Amino acid sequence: MTRKYNFCAGPAALPEPVLAQARDEMLDWHASGLSIMEMSHRSAEIVAIAEGAEASLRRLLSISDDYAVLFVQGGASSQFAAAPLNLAAGNARVDYVNTGQWSKKAIAEAKRFADVNVVATAGDTNFSTIPAFDSWQLSDSPAYLHYTPNETIGGVEFFWTPEVNAPLVADMSSTILSRPVDVDRFGVIYAGAQKNIGPAGLTLVIVRRDLLGKASDGCPAMMDWKVAADNDSMYNTPPTYGIYLAGLVFAWLEEQGGLAAMESFNRAKAEKLYGAIDGSDFYANPVEVQSRSLMNVPFTLADSALDKTFLAESEEAGLLNLKGHRSVGGMRASIYNAVGEEAVDALLAFMQDFEQRHG
Ligand code: PMP
Repeated sequence: MTRKYNFCAGPAALPEPVLAQARDEMLDWHASGLSIMEMSHRSAEIVAIAEGAEASLRRLLSISDDYAVLFVQGGASSQFAAAPLNLAAGNARVDYVNTGQWSKKAIAEAKRFADVNVVATAGDTNFSTIPAFDSWQLSDSPAYLHYTPNETIGGVEFFWTPEVNAPLVADMSSTILSRPVDVDRFGVIYAGAQKNIGPAGLTLVIVRRDLLGKASDGCPAMMDWKVAADNDSMYNTPPTYGIYLAGLVFAWLEEQGGLAAMESFNRAKAEKLYGAIDGSDFYANPVEVQSRSLMNVPFTLADSALDKTFLAESEEAGLLNLKGHRSVGGMRASIYNAVGEEAVDALLAFMQDFEQRHG
């Protein structure tokens, strides 16, 4: 077996020890005689697995009892609708920051259910910056302010938390668990699992309990956070295998030393990669230096006619999924928690060699 280096933006690389444990436990979990996938979600085993996963996540992020942790479905995209449906009943005013493609999708969806005010947009810099906080046109008393702490496509990340007089709602899909976060600063944090949490199909919502029970009348039960919270995320059949795998990932993160350790590890990887890009005339990254994502590193080649060759040769070298998002082209290396330093080193060696041959 030769596992290759995976730079996919999601579904992304998973820690190999987690995959190996899942393989070993696949047919007969802990002498139960069943696979996790075959167990009732009401069984003692699955309830314990879900409770264990939640407890581990709470330790990693220091989540207090003031917050409910929900394991739901539908991806982060469903939460684009769930946020206004839960918090903006009666077409309430809501504030959104537009820092790129995922913000735009969240805004478009929110407009179906709420009175959306876009407080700032980075459109004038082609989404390579974060608009300065003092330029934001905040509403007087919005139901919440939504932003995207890490734009997966543009590779733009907030390293500060907005200070506003409204609950903060954050789409942390591609930054969650990459470094510590002060959960108490947020009303709601949500994330699709398929980057730093586990397999696609599971969605995480962390919601301050005082924000539960405000959903609009038309909110479907499956999107109502209170319904999920009241039923311990088992209102319907939850994605049991995804929850199990997420639990293994959380345990792996705790073994690595938690999120402070992940932050230094992730910073070291990102610095290496940005350093190499900046040190060359052949590669370029368009994002302002202080907002460069630790997780998603887009880059272009000096001559885009070489893109196809770069992708073909990198794949040949065992470096997979380096193609930039279809909407922007170029390249993108996603270096989530499970992408090791050796993967980044292999990518850098390939990039240097490619530049020497084609530059
Ligand atoms: N938000 C962000 C920041 C993302 O990166 C993605 C997926 N790449 C989404 C939302 C959409 O997530 P999902 O596919 O889970 O709906």
